[in-house]
Formats: sequence, C-alpha cells, structure tokens
Amino acid sequence: MTSPARIDLHAHSTASDGTLSPEELVRAAADAGLDVVAITDHDTTAGWEAAVRALPPGLTVVRGAEISCRWYGVEPAIPLHLLAYLFDPTEPELVAELARVRRAREERGERIVRLLQADGINVSWREILAGAGGGTIGRPHIAQALIRAGLVATTTEAFGPDWLGERYRLPKEDIDVFRAVALVRAAGGVPVFAHPRASRRGRIVPDELIVELAAAGLAGLEADHEDHTAAEREHVRRLAAELGLLVTGSSDFHGTHKTVQLGAHTTDPEVYERLIALAGGVTPVASGRPAY
Ligand code: AMP
Ligand code: FE
Ligand code: FE
Ligand code: ZN
Repeated sequence: MTSPARIDLHAHSTASDGTLSPEELVRAAADAGLDVVAITDHDTTAGWEAAVRALPPGLTVVRGAEISCRWYGVEPAIPLHLLAYLFDPTEPELVAELARVRRAREERGERIVRLLQADGINVSWREILAGAGGGTIGRPHIAQALIRAGLVATTTEAFGPDWLGERYRLPKEDIDVFRAVALVRAAGGVPVFAHPRASRRGRIVPDELIVELAAAGLAGLEADHEDHTAAEREHVRRLAAELGLLVTGSSDFHGTHKTVQLGAHTTDPEVYERLIALAGGVTPVASGRPAY
C-alpha cells in the first residue's frame, strides 16, 4: 500500500512575505516530501506562474491566495484571513480588489515607517520596499528592518507589543469578508477561513459569524495550524462538522520569517478531493505523477 498523499494548503513565497521565491518554494515542497502544496501569498497571484514553471516531478501545485479581509459587524472591525483556492485570476472585480488592498498595504507600511522615524528609529522605507522585492508588503518586511537596525533580534520579537504588534501597528484597508467570499466564489474559487481561532494573533470572530459565512458560500475552515491550541483545533473541527464545512490543515510556511516548516500540518486527501471538486476557476497543476 502506498502512503497517503501529503498535502499542505497554505504557503507563502517572496510574492508576499515568505523568504523563498516561488521556484524555491515548490522545490522545497518536493524536498519536504509533499505531494501537493498550495501557494497562497497575501493578496496576490504574482507567484503562480513561476511556481508552475518550476514544478518538480511528482508535485502538484494548487494556485491560491490569502486575502486580507475584515468583519465590520463589530466596532472596531476585526481583521481576518481568507484562503482562496483555484479562482480565475483574471476576474476583474477580484483583481481590482486585490490591487486596491496591495496599494493600501504600501501606504500603511510607509505610515508605520514614519511613526517609527518620528520616534527616532532609524528605518528606511526605500530599503524596506527593496527588501520586499516587488512582493506584497507586510509587517514582516518592516520587522526585517528592525532586525537590521539591531532593535530586535527576531521577527517574533518585532511582533511584540512594543513594536509592530501594538505600538506601531496600523490597520489595513481590507475587503469586507462577505464581499470577499462572494468574489472568490464568482471567480470559481474555493474560500477557506485561515486560522479562524488564532486568538494569540489578536481578536477572533464569534462562531455566529462563521455560521453566516457558511451560508454565504464559505467552503471550509483551517483547523490544524500552529497558531491554534489543541482545544482551538477541536473547536474548529466541531464547528465545521456542524456546518458541513471542509477541514484543512496547513503549515502557513513563510520561510525564515517564521519557524514552522513545510508539511508541519497537512490536509486529509479526501478533504482535498472534495475541495478541488468545488473549484471552477483554474485547476491544480501536476508535474508527472501522481495526478493529485
Ligand atoms: P500584515 O499582513 O502586514 O498585517 O502582517 C501580518 C503577517 O505577519 C502575517 O501574515 C504573518 O506572516 C506575520 N506575523 C504575524 N504575527 C507574527 C508573529 N508573531 N511572528 C512572526 N510573524 C508574524
Ligand atoms: Fe504572512
Ligand atoms: Fe494568515
Ligand atoms: Zn498565511
């Protein structure tokens, strides 16, 4: 009997805040023994083409994105991440929304840098932009500047309350989560709520919202994720079962911007089959065998 496929549905490249290029990411996924990897950069599909071109034998790539969303049902609104798989990357409304969010991320990044500079902290926006290499800008890129300046030792420390976690944290202009679910579906994609109970990252949304999102077209919940405790994973699984949602597990790999490794958490092959059966935008791309 062959061993079950190893499927990791959440990974970042230099197209956003990962440290491996899309080419390096797919090679690393194959080296890690994965059969399927999803490239899910923040608010962009810019890494898709390079990942597909560099696909090593035996690996399948699922093209996706992690969309910056917000739930406006409470004040202040709560930011959340929506994984979107296999959507049509040319769907005009979705393309326009993603471009808007990327622009807003740049403006916000520059404002964070100005706040730091106003406090006498020596970081350069131009250097940070160059460090992002054209990828979607995020706080991890600013964190690298704080490390270079010798102000913090690690990315984790840069996300502490004295730095980008609170004192120098500014909100992004995200997409209303209901609009994002509708846009992803309209583009033939499959929306999955990323790390929905990750309370250590900040405020989390109530289960009632997830009930409403399921009715609005949400397809799944990410349960196995390093930011979820065992109890949080169990809670997500139970909620998904009640609502008939798919349950995924993923590494949320970011290269050296995080410590988690590719394949640290994986998705059940049966769930994966159901997920791709829901997609109508683009297909997974397989290189050689097996045809996952
Ligand atoms: P942003 O998208 O600019 O709000 O930054 C959020 C990103 O920072 C997430 O996608 C993660 O990649 C990263 N991140 C969030 N919290 C941490 C943390 N505690 N340590 C390291 N990276 C983090
Ligand atoms: Fe990230
Ligand atoms: Fe996320
Ligand atoms: Zn992610």
